[in-house]
Amino acid sequence: TGVIFTPSYGIHLAEVALEDGIDPKELGIKAIGFGAEGWTEEIRQKVESLYGAKAYNIYGLTELMGPGVGIECGAQKGLHIAEDIFYPEIINPNTQQVLGENQPGELVLTNLEREGMPVIRFRTKDLTKITYEKCECGRTHARMSRITGRSDDMIKVKGVAIFPSQIEKALLRAGDVEPHYLIIVTRPGTLDEIEVKVEASQDIFFDGVKEMMAVQNKIAKSIENETGIRVKVTLVEPRTLPRFEGKAKRVIDERNLH
Ligand SMILES: [Zn+2]
Repeated sequence: TGVIFTPSYGIHLAEVALEDGIDPKELGIKAIGFGAEGWTEEIRQKVESLYGAKAYNIYGLTELMGPGVGIECGAQKGLHIAEDIFYPEIINPNTQQVLGENQPGELVLTNLEREGMPVIRFRTKDLTKITYEKCECGRTHARMSRITGRSDDMIKVKGVAIFPSQIEKALLRAGDVEPHYLIIVTRPGTLDEIEVKVEASQDIFFDGVKEMMAVQNKIAKSIENETGIRVKVTLVEPRTLPRFEGKAKRVIDERNLH
């Protein structure tokens, strides 16, 4: 029996089970697959001790075929890439120059099997590095390291990919706000939370608490429709959020997962 989940949700499930008097270790789970969000070795150890089973990192992306591009073996020292199907390269995301073994950069994948809709040198925007050294398990497939970040501004929350542009679109559509906002991602317990701070329009801000609440709810609904994720919206006074001369820094990720 195996389970595949995002690590944070796996920990949450285990905690709920324990509260209900069920020990996840008694469920007979033999292996765990992990994916779709950033995590640390400490989180892996926590999941393994909660379920009494080994947890293996898996990697894949919808554009190529979903999960299955790479998976860890028993050695848990990097993900073996299915090189018979995918040709991996690491590039410098700025210059697009191909980098060598063990050099960190953006993973680029070519699917060697696709017919009809080929995927050639697909830029994953995921940052990692590759080694071709023979693994302890005896396999000689290329191994990629755990993803350490993104070369764009995408964030993964509860396993869902979100771009700040989606949140921007949703809050501007809801109205009564200025196009100045900040997305703060935290993990107070085991699950991710997003707070969106947005500047209220001048008229709304001085309208009173009830009106403010109504606007906050309207924006939260609009963001949920756009991203599928429930967020906390906080209206702040006009002209109080930071302004940027260059590229705006819209996301503050306080989860410390890399
Ligand atoms: Zn191996």
